[in-house]
Amino acid sequence: PLGHVVVVGAGFAGLAAARYLREWSAGNIKVTVIEPNLQFISCPQSNLVLGGSRTLDELSFSYDVSRKQHQLQWLQDSVTSIDLAAKQVRLTRGSLAYDRLILAPGVDFDYSHIPGMSSPVAAIPHAWKAGSQTLRLRRQLESMADGGVFVMTVPKAPYRCPPGPYERACQVAHYFKQHKPRSKVIILDANADITSKKGLFLQSFEGDYKGIIDYHNNSDILQLDSASNTIKTDFETVQATVLNVIPPQLAGKVAQEAGLANVDKHWCEVDFVTYASSLNDCVHIIGDSISAGLPKSAHMATSQAKICAAAIIDLQTGRPPNPLPVFANTCYSFVDDKQAMHVANVYRYDPAKKTMVSAEGGGVSSKASVQEGDYAQAWAQNIWADTLT
Ligand code: FAD
Repeated sequence: PLGHVVVVGAGFAGLAAARYLREWSAGNIKVTVIEPNLQFISCPQSNLVLGGSRTLDELSFSYDVSRKQHQLQWLQDSVTSIDLAAKQVRLTRGSLAYDRLILAPGVDFDYSHIPGMSSPVAAIPHAWKAGSQTLRLRRQLESMADGGVFVMTVPKAPYRCPPGPYERACQVAHYFKQHKPRSKVIILDANADITSKKGLFLQSFEGDYKGIIDYHNNSDILQLDSASNTIKTDFETVQATVLNVIPPQLAGKVAQEAGLANVDKHWCEVDFVTYASSLNDCVHIIGDSISAGLPKSAHMATSQAKICAAAIIDLQTGRPPNPLPVFANTCYSFVDDKQAMHVANVYRYDPAKKTMVSAEGGGVSSKASVQEGDYAQAWAQNIWADTLT
């Protein structure tokens, strides 16, 4: 009796929102989830697949438990367009009406700013959505001869998972150190600096991985030749044995095409009390697609999902939503198969600035440790349980 919510995308954001909408409305909101993939594959820990201490199977989960447990209506399909005026989504098969729409399509990739690689190249996987590309990149590393060079490019921020590229560099270096000790990792970072856990990553780059990882900042791709795996930057020309280009990112295509990516045509502006789009009250947007000074993480995506679900229940019941949402983000990075380090932050809604601001509390590890590696495993088990059961 409290209406029909259609959720587009069953990643961390969409699936958590669907679950909590059902649970907190005591089943009074009908929820339909639309997701093309058969399985949920976790990006968190997917860098460990490249390092060799995790398999992709261990990070792949069925949607069935959550579907049954929360009586979610489910369509294995994609939304191809949104009719905002008629409050309907079009799928590859048919269409569906909603009272409220939750868009949680994650990120899309923008190749238009990579000279020489204006569209995806199969031999150069980004592996920035966990799945077949993660396996392809792992196979490339396995078949590379000792003495080879792994080159990874990092796009300008904001992109999904700010520390993710540096964690990946450590994982590949960890693999090389054990199995291919004459090999090198070169990071070509388009940013002026490492934007997350800088001091901690530098401890690894200059400590355990000294002579293996070579970090270059301000290294925009001026030209890429995919036939020879060569990249030219302002300062140098680098040839890779294995090349991993992480492309610049923007809001999921379905949000862009609906005209909802209204910040620099890249990201979606929302009201942080309800996650309603600033362009449409009935369309809520959560997860990596939104514009914010917040890190794009799974932890953030599930926190936003909970605020959004609670607000939708309030709105559908005729109550005002909580005007001052608060949440935290903890982000672990593994530097090898066992040791991890974290950064944690608390964010509060600031009504004057109309955004979430970093508040008191939080902190950062002094160094990577095995104990934090155990905490990082527990963090992953918790977020998978919270999202998928
Ligand atoms: P996704 O999880 O990408 O979900 C989007 C879903 O929408 C997908 O299932 C997709 O199929 C679906 N979809 C897209 N378009 C449509 C459409 N038109 N119709 C229907 N469905 C559609 N975060 C952490 O907190 N901790 C970590 O340790 C961490 N490590 C990471 C490591 C790597 C290597 C990477 C790449 C990311 C990592 N992240 C981590 C970030 C985290 O994975 C993302 O922030 C998170 O997945 C965002 O959730 P989302 O729901 O917005 O997007």
